[in-house]
Amino acid sequence: MESNAQTRHRVSTNGKQGTTSNNNNIKSSSATGQWGRAWRVDVWTFFGCLFVLFVCPILPLTFYASCTHHECSLVETAYSVWSGSLDFSLPAVSGFAARTYFTWIAFQILLSALPDIVHLILPRYVGGIQPGAVTPSGRVNRYNINGLQAWLITHILWAANAFYFKLFSPSIVFNNMGAFLVLSNITGYCLATFCYIKGRLFPTHENDCKLSGHFLYDYLMGVEFNPRIGCWFDFKLFFNGRPGIVAWSIINLSFASRQYETFGHVTDSMILLNFLQAIYVIDFFWNETWYLKTMDICHDHFGFYLAWGDLAWLPIMYTLQGFYLAYHPVELGVIKSSLILLLGLVGYVIFRSANSQKDKFRKKKNKCKIWGKKSPEYIECSYTSSDGVRHQSTLLVSGWWGVARHFNYTGDLLGSLAYCLCCGGDHILPYFYIIYMTILLVHRLYRDEHRCKCKYGEYWTLYVQRVPWRLIPGLY
Ligand code: NDP
Repeated sequence: MESNAQTRHRVSTNGKQGTTSNNNNIKSSSATGQWGRAWRVDVWTFFGCLFVLFVCPILPLTFYASCTHHECSLVETAYSVWSGSLDFSLPAVSGFAARTYFTWIAFQILLSALPDIVHLILPRYVGGIQPGAVTPSGRVNRYNINGLQAWLITHILWAANAFYFKLFSPSIVFNNMGAFLVLSNITGYCLATFCYIKGRLFPTHENDCKLSGHFLYDYLMGVEFNPRIGCWFDFKLFFNGRPGIVAWSIINLSFASRQYETFGHVTDSMILLNFLQAIYVIDFFWNETWYLKTMDICHDHFGFYLAWGDLAWLPIMYTLQGFYLAYHPVELGVIKSSLILLLGLVGYVIFRSANSQKDKFRKKKNKCKIWGKKSPEYIECSYTSSDGVRHQSTLLVSGWWGVARHFNYTGDLLGSLAYCLCCGGDHILPYFYIIYMTILLVHRLYRDEHRCKCKYGEYWTLYVQRVPWRLIPGLY
């Protein structure tokens, strides 16, 4: 199997390694075309569904109430729940907040429809019309990639209206947080319900729909793989990336502004947090084409998990540290700030370089350099889509993908820890994010490996043998 240029592996019919010149002869579990979402709904999955559908929506409200009524102390909040004194009444929604919220969504839809011009000015940024991955039914969707442009326009307009025209306060999000919380929840539930009905009655691509036979599971995990309206409005790309991730950096700026209004200055921790999370957000839009090849787009169907998660969970729970710091200013000092900055940057570099290695390799295969090595090692594999067509693919074994099978997650977790550390050690509430990300990414890791095993069969087993560690070499 050792060729001059690269180590390649093919798997023969009996699963043993060997050279085969004709991949069409290969039979593996991937040959059944059963990859994509088709999870068995057992009793644990059922309780998991109940938890996500009915418990998760309570968490953002509880955390909001904790900061507004109990100085962000979860212990005091828990005590007030226990003693029955927690104020469970929903925050009021003013006409202004409702108009602002729906104008925001409409504006982001408008921006998503514009042709991308940023890639003409910044040649290294890849935008414009880009193909996605092959879906389980063998389709390749095309996407209008213009996230960086949308992010830039939104931020310029926000700054101009807040500071120059003074149309609204820069702390507008903080001032209307309770109302936005209610509105985003309602919108999230409506969107999830609409997508469930659409998937059942008028799906965009029928062959890419999945039904488990269990209503709650299908509602949560989605029926349609890529719901669309017309050619270009793709629900997954839009709701996953905008309006929540564009809002992320605006929300953080709003919290910084509130801190300034209340305490007369912005703390080093708030600046550091804004900086680290802005890198993550800008990176997301700079690399939006890469996002087309991630699990969100390539694996997950569009249901409550993504619809409500993107609209209601992300803008509240991903920005908890800034919300906390708006109430509790923390001065870190030079040494702590530098150490947290270092941790955040190391996490980001691992996250970005691991994701880029895979992206670059998938585009250029053996023609790309990884860690200075001219010929990356990889496993050549094939799989079958449900239309019976055989496709070729590759699994990278060099770089971070040879260190652990999900080292991009490890980088993400280090970065997430850095965000939390910005908030000091007085309260547990801002550390919710690292706990949540660990659960999310470990669960995701198992879902992804299940999918890859179904898709690639013995090829995946071979990859696991070559790279035995999931997240941390020598440990897990
Ligand atoms: P990956 O980007 O790791 O994509 C997984 C897919 O990559 C697999 O399904 C497989 O797809 C392919 N693949 C797996 N192993 C290899 C290999 N060795 N060589 C080449 N291709 C391989 O996962 P995610 O989409 O989950 O995550 C993307 C990034 O987004 C991560 O860095 C993660 O940390 C981050 N993330 C952040 C979240 C947040 O809320 N902040 C939430 C979720 C993710 P294929 O079918 O193409 O072979």
